[in-house]
Amino acid sequence: MNATYDAVVVGAGFAGITAARDLADRGRSVVLLEAGTRIGGRTYTRPFTGREDLTVDLGGSWVNRELQPEIWREIARYGIPLTEDAMPTSAAFITDGVLRSFPVPAGEIADLERVVGHLRDASKRIAPSQRLSRQPIRDLDVSVDEFIAPLQLGPATRDLVYAALAWYAGADPRNVSMLGFIAQTAGFGHSPYGFFGALTERIIGGAGTLLDRMVEQSRLEIRLDHYVAQIEQSQDGVTVRTRHGQCVRAHSCVVAVPTNVLRHIDFRPGLAGDKQRFLTENHMGRATKPSMLVRHVPARPFALGLGKLQALCLGHEYPDGSCLLMGFGGERTKLDLTDREQIEAAVREYYPEAEVLAVDAHDWNADPLFDGTYRIDRPGQAYDFLRAMNEPEGRIVFAGTDLDDSVWRIWIEGAVHSGRHAADGVSAILAR
Ligand SMILES: Cc1cc2nc3c(=O)[nH]c(=O)nc-3n(C[C@H](O)[C@H](O)[C@H](O)COP(=O)(O)OP(=O)(O)OC[C@H]3O[C@@H](n4cnc5c(N)ncnc54)[C@H](O)[C@@H]3O)c2cc1C
Repeated sequence: MNATYDAVVVGAGFAGITAARDLADRGRSVVLLEAGTRIGGRTYTRPFTGREDLTVDLGGSWVNRELQPEIWREIARYGIPLTEDAMPTSAAFITDGVLRSFPVPAGEIADLERVVGHLRDASKRIAPSQRLSRQPIRDLDVSVDEFIAPLQLGPATRDLVYAALAWYAGADPRNVSMLGFIAQTAGFGHSPYGFFGALTERIIGGAGTLLDRMVEQSRLEIRLDHYVAQIEQSQDGVTVRTRHGQCVRAHSCVVAVPTNVLRHIDFRPGLAGDKQRFLTENHMGRATKPSMLVRHVPARPFALGLGKLQALCLGHEYPDGSCLLMGFGGERTKLDLTDREQIEAAVREYYPEAEVLAVDAHDWNADPLFDGTYRIDRPGQAYDFLRAMNEPEGRIVFAGTDLDDSVWRIWIEGAVHSGRHAADGVSAILAR
C-alpha cells in the first residue's frame, strides 16, 4: 500500500487542529481523524439547552492575550475579538466552615501573606518561556500538604489553598502534585493572584469561533466519527485503523487525544515502557463545570471555598437582573449536573437567597472520549510524565494540553503550544 499523506493527526481539539494547520501551512498533506461528531474536544461551544439565544462554553473558555503568546498569535492571525470580564464587586468565601466576605479571619492575614510569598518564591525557580521538563524542578513535584507544611497555616488559610487548588484540579487537593500549580503561578507572571485575576478574557461567540476559523482558512480535511483503534508503524510509514475498519496511511502521525484515553489505542509496536507506566492509570483531573441561569445573587458575584462547588464565576449579567454563572466542582463533592435543585443548594451555600432557574453542562468524566477533564498528576508523577510523553516514538509524536511541556499545560494555550511543537516534531521526521 502506498503512503498517502505526509501526516495523519488523531484528535481534533486545539492541539490536533494546530498541528494539522501548521503542517498544512508548510505545504504538507495532512488528514485529521476525530472520534466524535464535532471538532473542539474539551472546548465545546453551543447554545444553553432550552435557551437558543444564549451561547455557552461547556469546556475551555478563559484566555489572556498578554500572558499567553500562542493565543495572542492565533487571535491576531484570524482577527478574533475578545471580551474582558467585569471585575467582581461582591465575593463570598467558605473557609474553616464559615461563610465570609474576606477569605480568612483577621487573625490569619499574616498566614495568607506567608502562603502567597511561599508560592511566589517557588514559582520564581521556573522560567515561563522554557520547557518544564528541562528545568531542575523535580523537587517541586510534591503534595500540597508537603509544600505548605513548613508554613503552619491557620485552618481558614489552609482551606483557601485547598479550595483554590480543588477549583483548578477538580480533585481532592491533598492527592495532587503542587508542580503544576507552581508552574501555573510562573505563567501568571509569578503572581499567585493570577489564580483569581489572570484569565479574564473570552472569545466573543465562544472558543469554537477560533477553531472554526483555523479549520476553514486552511481547508483542513477532517473526518468525524473516525475513532482510531490501532496505530501501527513500520520503517516506511504509519497505518492508522479505526474502530469501523477505515484505514489511513501516512509518513508520520500526531496523536493528540486526552491522555486518559490513550491506552485504548493499540500501538504496534507497543509504546516505550515509561509511557505505558503513566498511561495505565487515570490522572486525577475530574472537574465539573455546570453553567446556570441564576437570580437573586449580588451584582458581579465571585465565590470560592470548600462548599459543594469550589467556585462560582460570572458569565454574563442580563437586564432583568438574572445572570449566567459558571460553577466549578469535582470529585470532592459529586453533584448531579442535570439536577437543578442540587445545583441550587450548592449555590445557596454561598448566596442563600439564590434561585437557580436552569442548568446545563457536559459531563467530561462520563464521556468515554475524555474520561476526565485535564491532566492533574499525583505527587511525584508530574515531572517524569512530561519527560516521557514528549519523546517521539519513531514516526509518532504525541500532542495535547495534558502533556504540554510549558507553564500553560492544561489550558487552551498549552494545547496550541503542544500542537505547534508536534508540527515541528513531524517536520523533523519528514525531513529525515
Ligand atoms: C470544564 C473545563 C473547563 C476548562 N476551562 C478552561 C478555560 O477556561 N481556559 C482554558 O484555556 N482552558 C480550559 N480548559 C482546558 C481546555 O479546554 C483544554 O486544555 C483544551 O481544550 C484541550 O485541547 P486538546 O487538543 O489537548 O484536547 P481535546 O480538546 O480533548 O482534543 C482531543 C480530541 O481527541 C478526540 N479523541 C479521543 N479519542 C480518540 C480516538 N481514539 N480517535 C480519534 N479521536 C479521539 C476527542 O474526541 C477530542 O476531540 C477547560 C477544560 C474543561 C474540560
